[in-house]
Amino acid sequence: MTTTSALRDPAAGTPALDAARPMIRFKGISKAFGSLTVLDNLDLDIAPAEKVALIGPSGSGKSTLLRVLMTLERPDTGSIEIDGAPLWHMPGKGGAKNGGLVPADAGHLREMRKNVGMVFQQFNLFPHMTVLRNVTEAPVHVLGIGKDEAEARARDLLELVGLRDKLGHYPAQLSGGQQQRVAIARALAMRPRVMLFDEVTSALDPETVGEVLNVIRKLAEEHNLTMLMVTHQMGFAREFADRVCFFYQGRICEQGPPDQLFNHPREERTQAFLRAVL
Ligand code: ADP
Ligand code: MG
Repeated sequence: MTTTSALRDPAAGTPALDAARPMIRFKGISKAFGSLTVLDNLDLDIAPAEKVALIGPSGSGKSTLLRVLMTLERPDTGSIEIDGAPLWHMPGKGGAKNGGLVPADAGHLREMRKNVGMVFQQFNLFPHMTVLRNVTEAPVHVLGIGKDEAEARARDLLELVGLRDKLGHYPAQLSGGQQQRVAIARALAMRPRVMLFDEVTSALDPETVGEVLNVIRKLAEEHNLTMLMVTHQMGFAREFADRVCFFYQGRICEQGPPDQLFNHPREERTQAFLRAVL
């Protein structure tokens, strides 16, 4: 099957997983926009290969947490590690007095970003590029992979997402579900160890939601990929996730395996949220 082989790099091998060390560690993460506290001293460890669903009301900080991991936002306080390496540097003794994060140098951030792929609600494909070019662009220009190798890999990934016959199409010629599957292939082409999905089916016509979820389901069977998914699809979260985290006002109010969280929520906030959405 190409499904799993397309995700692995036989030359580089798969990095050894250290079960004792989290793949991602958020520690004391706070983020405010003006007077609005969006993340409130949040701690979260994600194990290697763990599949985590993030649920909760709109505005509770789910997207912001993914965005700080993606370095699209900088937290005000706290630290983030990916496989033990800090994303930003904390000031050492005698460093910044305000406890703020010290910017890592651009090279370090670039290296760290390669670990993480993200797919958004809006597909954001390059409209003037074919499907194939959309998938090869970053591997060629960011990773410096040769064009032939990048294309071979893109074909495998497009086969994985069921779009091998659309290589020469432009985004505008595809349905929303097809565009979103290209966006997933494009993120995978960077060989990330962590994949983030932020409401990736929310902008889709109902009839194409299933084809995108099927791709994510297939990826979840790839045991080395760590996955975080913000979703309103509780049925899918239940099936996909090893752990579900319920966000409320910038904190994780409750978390646990899907059965516990969905069938036996302990917190009143979780119960009220589930009553409203289920
Ligand atoms: P969620 O994904 O759980 O719906 P978000 O993390 O997107 O929540 O947002 C949390 C809050 O932060 C929202 O009220 C949102 O409007 C606000 N917010 C997010 N990004 C910004 C920004 N760049 N500037 C100002 N406010 C923002
Ligand atoms: Mg959001």
